[in-house]
Amino acid sequence: MKIFNTLTRQKEEFVPIEDGKVRMYVCGPTVYNYIHIGNARPMIIFDTVRRYFEYKGFEVNYVSNFTDVDDKIIKKAIEEGVSSETISERYIQAVREDMEALNIKQATKNPKATEEIDGMIAMIDELIKKGHAYEKNGTVYFRTRSFSGYGKLSKKNIDDLESGHREIKVAGEEEKEDALDFVLWKPKKEGEPAWESPWSDGRPGWHIECSVMSKKYLGDQIDIHAGGEDLIFPHHENEIAQSEAANGKDFAKYWMHNGFLNINNKKMSKSEGNFFTVREIGEKYPYEVLRFFMLSGAHYRMPLNFSQDLMEAAKNGLERICVAVERLSDIIAKGNSGDISEEEKKTLEELEQLNQRFDMAMEDDFNTADAVSVIFEMVKLVNVKFDMNSHEVAVKKAKEIIDTLTEVLGVKTQKEDILDEEIEQLIEQRQEARKAKDFAKADEIRDILLEKGIVLKDTREGVKWTRA
Ligand code: AMP
Ligand code: ZN
Repeated sequence: MKIFNTLTRQKEEFVPIEDGKVRMYVCGPTVYNYIHIGNARPMIIFDTVRRYFEYKGFEVNYVSNFTDVDDKIIKKAIEEGVSSETISERYIQAVREDMEALNIKQATKNPKATEEIDGMIAMIDELIKKGHAYEKNGTVYFRTRSFSGYGKLSKKNIDDLESGHREIKVAGEEEKEDALDFVLWKPKKEGEPAWESPWSDGRPGWHIECSVMSKKYLGDQIDIHAGGEDLIFPHHENEIAQSEAANGKDFAKYWMHNGFLNINNKKMSKSEGNFFTVREIGEKYPYEVLRFFMLSGAHYRMPLNFSQDLMEAAKNGLERICVAVERLSDIIAKGNSGDISEEEKKTLEELEQLNQRFDMAMEDDFNTADAVSVIFEMVKLVNVKFDMNSHEVAVKKAKEIIDTLTEVLGVKTQKEDILDEEIEQLIEQRQEARKAKDFAKADEIRDILLEKGIVLKDTREGVKWTRA
């Protein structure tokens, strides 16, 4: 399996630190608002990476944090007149709901920064003892020049950085030994959340949070550290400096970064205001369409431009897969007995070959777009080769292959039974309302269903429903 490693700017063969196991850390969102679909890109991509490893038999320890202490959270809390915790808890809950809707598997652990302060104080203390950090007036800074590997991830030259910094002097930098030094701990300002520390009542810097949470839940050395490409510098560069200086070991073996989700070829971002939340898109399209769009639209390292046309294309593409899978279910339900025919055997062999091509695409730095086109080829094949007379055993095998691979991509292709039940119940309630001549209520239920993408049709045989 080959992974493009940002550290070496090359595709490298994946060799785990521990046989059969993968330890991966994915930088999670800052929780001060609903996540936008740009934030969802790394979540979907690296969840798919994890799923592929699991499909290949690896045991994956997957850790992704919530940054729940931050200037933006504090600002929002002040605006609303509530505590920072109220804000972060509200949006952590919302992110969890969005992730579930996007079929993102539960992480092994989702640490919250505010619950790991002790570890941060311990690591900062260690860095001070080793001469990699120093305190000035309650603030602790990392001594960037003390770490000889600084710049190895972002390929930035420390002297270039220095001269850049000299031109844009930031207030408060006077007390630093060097303009390149960055904050590990800062004293609180009035009204801010704070924790006791040997240096001041205050809070940690953003970068130290990830170094500490990664160490605590995955160990000093991990296989994969991932996030969006905007995190390469300074966040990941600083994480490397802190972790390697404190632990005396190489930190992550492979650094993976996804490209941006753009809108009109510009990075989608909260600060620019050019964003759609996952929820907004979820009102227009089923969530699996969004997931399918992210995986089929482009290679994960490439930019991906969001547009209605591409979402429509994703919707139609996914629909094609769903229809084929449903048809296979219908054939299986018919239950034609008998052995696999020669013709069917050949089809299954072809499917096996396509399965290998799917694997090859994924082994080549997780080329999900190519993997999706292999699934389309499978769909074409089963549509042509199987019909209502095909043998149950053969069709079951074919369906198993397609189901396994769509599951690797985390794309749902079958109607969910619970959801169906819910729909049936609502339809029944609507019928009762109509019987009681409560037409307002009947219309209301129709609208609720419509919102869920369910279209009702009154026919002579009763009410029929379809997904829009
Ligand atoms: P943030 O909440 O801004 O710290 O971002 C959380 C994660 O989303 C990080 O891994 C970012 O790199 C990623 N991210 C933010 N905006 C985008 C975007 N437009 N496209 C892709 N990834 C993004
Ligand atoms: Zn991080």
